[in-house]
Amino acid sequence: MNWITKFIKPKIESLFRKKTADSEQVLWTTCECKNLIYKEDLQKNFNCCPKCGAHHKLTCTERFDLFFDNSDYEIIETPSPNDDPLNFIDKKKYTDRLKSARKITNQEDAVAIAKGKINNLNVIVGAQDFRFIGGSFGAASGEAFIAGVQNAIDNKIPFIFFSCSGGQRMMESSIALMQMPRTALAVSELKKKNIPYVVVLTDPTTGGVTASWAMLGDILIAEPSATIGFAGRRVIQDTVRETLPDEFQTAEYVKEHGGIDLVIERKYLNSTIGTLLNVLLKKPETQARSESSDVPAIDKSLQSVS
Ligand SMILES: [Zn+2]
Repeated sequence: MNWITKFIKPKIESLFRKKTADSEQVLWTTCECKNLIYKEDLQKNFNCCPKCGAHHKLTCTERFDLFFDNSDYEIIETPSPNDDPLNFIDKKKYTDRLKSARKITNQEDAVAIAKGKINNLNVIVGAQDFRFIGGSFGAASGEAFIAGVQNAIDNKIPFIFFSCSGGQRMMESSIALMQMPRTALAVSELKKKNIPYVVVLTDPTTGGVTASWAMLGDILIAEPSATIGFAGRRVIQDTVRETLPDEFQTAEYVKEHGGIDLVIERKYLNSTIGTLLNVLLKKPETQARSESSDVPAIDKSLQSVS
């Protein structure tokens, strides 16, 4: 008996302890309000804190699952440019950063594009995963964005993009910066064809992303309290030598100062954007809801707009 109590029993107990610790880690999460939240409650509430309402970041898949009607959508394949064209190394090799980001996100790059329906209207939707090197925008993101725009033009259906990015990817230097005029030109093609382009700015949207496609939408919507800005708060404060208000660069502050059109809670994004698109497409909402296959109808609406 002695060897059981001395050796086997502690071994079994340690195994159980480890299992309990692991499952606790998965079941609970924290929020900026410092409350401990049951993960399932957070997921049921559109990944918004049930206690303070903070909108937690979403992965591209979570975003698409929440936004599309019945979580039904199809991922669109996008081109993959060469990795690391500048052989860039900072504290780590850029190729190593890419490798670990791909492992975490299960995506080739930060942007994913999908096709599906919202409010029964066919749309193309893009999203950024902040876990992929801060959602930074390089050549692959640019290609994905342009592929999304092209798909919207080919099918004559609206393009919606959820921004979540620290800005351009500096490991790609001027190649990343070149994505700013490229995406701006792609957006102007949408406008020439009278295809609605809606941007939803989520936390955070900063740097070159704010300075290009994220501010070019026909309608600019933000999630509550999202950080929206170009340069960081400290840089601006040091430059203008003034104390900035606490709410500076929040979605509500930017809206108050005319930078964006609406601040909408995540749970209302599908219905609000669906209604707005019906207006932009000059389509009665009841008609949109009753139609099952609406690609030709949208074509007609677009023709009537143009
Ligand atoms: Zn909270």
